[in-house]
Amino acid sequence: MKYKYCPNCGKKLEIKYSYDEGGVPYCSKDDIMFFDTPKPCIIAAVIKDRDILLLKQSYIFKDSKVLISGYVTNGETVESTVVREVKEETGIIVGNIKYLGSEYLASKEIIMLTFMAYYVDGEINKSSEVEHIEWINIENALEEMNEDEIGKRIVKKVLKELGSEEVFNK
Ligand SMILES: [Zn+2]
Repeated sequence: MKYKYCPNCGKKLEIKYSYDEGGVPYCSKDDIMFFDTPKPCIIAAVIKDRDILLLKQSYIFKDSKVLISGYVTNGETVESTVVREVKEETGIIVGNIKYLGSEYLASKEIIMLTFMAYYVDGEINKSSEVEHIEWINIENALEEMNEDEIGKRIVKKVLKELGSEEVFNK
């Protein structure tokens, strides 16, 4: 997001020239430069044997199931965001987190950091944000995720990681 006024004190921002970034909006009162950075967000495919955890959240997609996602907050690493979001939304504890690459969502200025994570412990205990959670055999997951293009790409990467070349090529 490009700021015109300081979100801290309301002062009109000046443009300050930074060495390698060019002109950057700057508040001289707070001495802060407001770089035009995207919002980091995680998406996690949680795996237990051959099952994957899928959620139904109609405010994201009306007719699709989705993976677990959430914003990275200040003070945490993205790996701890994965652990926190999965626990908050589903009650499940995960470990052995593996980074699968990133996707940029221009419409929302979001950088999606995608992961797979393995089930460690816990029973499904959904948050009020989530309508429904279930373990689905990963071979059938893509059919449940019609509208979720990013989610489907992550599931394909997970299938590849798990050595399911046959399904991957389908
Ligand atoms: Zn300010």
